[in-house]
Amino acid sequence: MTAPHHPWRDAALAVLGLFLPVACVGCGVADRALCTSCRSSLAAAPRRVRLVAGVRLDAAFEYEGLVRTLLLELKLRGRVDLARPLGARFGALVRTALAESPSGTVLLRVPPSPQGARRRGFDPVVLLLARGGVRRPPRLSRVRVRQSAPAGRREAEHGRQGARAGPGQKERSAVERVAATVGTLRAVGVRGRTVVVVDDVVTTGVTLAEAVRAVRAAGGRVVRLVAVASVDG
Ligand SMILES: [Zn+2]
Repeated sequence: MTAPHHPWRDAALAVLGLFLPVACVGCGVADRALCTSCRSSLAAAPRRVRLVAGVRLDAAFEYEGLVRTLLLELKLRGRVDLARPLGARFGALVRTALAESPSGTVLLRVPPSPQGARRRGFDPVVLLLARGGVRRPPRLSRVRVRQSAPAGRREAEHGRQGARAGPGQKERSAVERVAATVGTLRAVGVRGRTVVVVDDVVTTGVTLAEAVRAVRAAGGRVVRLVAVASVDG
């Protein structure tokens, strides 16, 4: 038995279609923004743990496949509707990190690049944390140390296979990346405190290593790093 044809329902769906995404970002099937099958594969994706500057980094996901697609859609296309499935696990990791740290531990976030913040109008880390039930933490401040600090560096780092990565970015050596990053962040109010630092995507770890340095320089100690995703290998 076929469902009776309801012109009014077709019209309602057509109107809804103007507001709701009709294709899954992960696989393209006509469904919600993230179909049930892709949600399941995301839930089954393993976490990642690595060391950055001698500090344990917990990443909610590896930065590959569906996770990479979702983060790029969120960050480059402003698909804020995709933040919840990623942010839920991220927020849980942050809460665990704080629970396992000494009481009074401060949560700090790595600030977005000025270019990214201007272009997007939102901070992906704050949005993802909010979807994971964690209130906006204060951020490390960005220090302008040299005029030649490469514009879009973090963007190139995060979306290196995206269209925005400029020529030559991939060829920068590790030494150059470190040299360009040291001294770019500053922490305040952490003297004598333990700190958990959060960021969205970790590739080389240079940015988080700079966050660890900045906290140390301000008299604090980073006890855990937490990220949405880590680029491994
Ligand atoms: Zn799908």
